[in-house]
Amino acid sequence: MYDILIFGAGTAGLTAAIYGVRAGRSVAVLEESVYGGQIINTLEIENYPGIKKVSGVDYATGLFEQATALGAQVLFDAPVSVEKSDVFTVTTKRGKTLEAKSLILAVGAKNRPLGVEGEEKFTGRGISYCATCDGAFFRGKDVAVVGGGNTAIDDALFLTDYCNKVYLIHRRQGFRAEEAKLALLKDKQNLEFVLDSVVETVEGEETFSGVTVKNKESGAVRHIAVDGLFVAVGQVPATAITKDLVALDDYGYIVAGEDCKTSTEGIFAAGDCRTKQIRQLVTAAADGAIAALAACEYIRK
Ligand SMILES: Cc1cc2nc3c(=O)[nH]c(=O)nc-3n(C[C@H](O)[C@H](O)[C@H](O)COP(=O)(O)OP(=O)(O)OC[C@H]3O[C@@H](n4cnc5c(N)ncnc54)[C@H](O)[C@@H]3O)c2cc1C
Repeated sequence: MYDILIFGAGTAGLTAAIYGVRAGRSVAVLEESVYGGQIINTLEIENYPGIKKVSGVDYATGLFEQATALGAQVLFDAPVSVEKSDVFTVTTKRGKTLEAKSLILAVGAKNRPLGVEGEEKFTGRGISYCATCDGAFFRGKDVAVVGGGNTAIDDALFLTDYCNKVYLIHRRQGFRAEEAKLALLKDKQNLEFVLDSVVETVEGEETFSGVTVKNKESGAVRHIAVDGLFVAVGQVPATAITKDLVALDDYGYIVAGEDCKTSTEGIFAAGDCRTKQIRQLVTAAADGAIAALAACEYIRK
């Protein structure tokens, strides 16, 4: 019987583990893939407080080693079912049955890919899914953003401050973003809208060199040479396993506020999988700490 069982060994889950074990609790983390989460594909992180520059892998390894050295158990296995009685009973893909007094869901989210050939090859090497994270690496360069929602508009606005030129590629004329933000964008001298257009291919041999877009109305094909491509076509939360356990919002994120409490007593949500505005390492870490301490309080009751 664990005091706290955590799903997901990303930043939120491993931080929750650190806080849980330091509070004297027995903690296990179930990770279905490799530890570290989304950040492991990132070459450089520059915005985590106290660390000037670190690769995603080194950052994740440091966090994993810290959590396990303190006594957290990380099990590379995935939950397949969860039952709630007085405690939680979790069965796993490898056939284990685990019991826990509380659960922390820290399963993260995945960026929705564009789905074009070559995208995977250049991810982290020209193609990014996070302008806040990687925008500064493209200072003075030409970049493109794909998307039509608030994230795409925010990304484009952010990048116009750093980059020489920003193309905003969107498959429609109209945007799903706030008018006020759109108005700000329209005033930017270094921004060009490429509307009614979809990315057909990403280009480059060794190095990413640009995109080919097709106008859906005219059928015209255009090559746009850019150093970076920021994909902002939405995220997909990895909440399939949690959907019968806790309330989700319309987009599949776990409904939980800053206190990380979900609709089900004893289950807490931390990091990118919960409803929130800013999805970053520092907010995931903060959630991990809050969720672990909330779980400790729940167990004490
Ligand atoms: C390319 C890229 C670059 C980024 N760069 C930065 C940056 O420079 N700075 C910054 O602050 N943020 C950056 N971010 C955002 C940051 O990575 C996320 O905010 C952060 O990783 C969220 O942490 P998390 O623990 O909530 O989720 P995740 O990192 O997504 O971790 C979730 C973990 O849960 C596991 N999991 C999922 N489902 C299950 C399941 N059913 N059972 C068990 N395990 C499961 C996953 O395998 C994963 O390991 C970047 C994101 C991307 C994609």
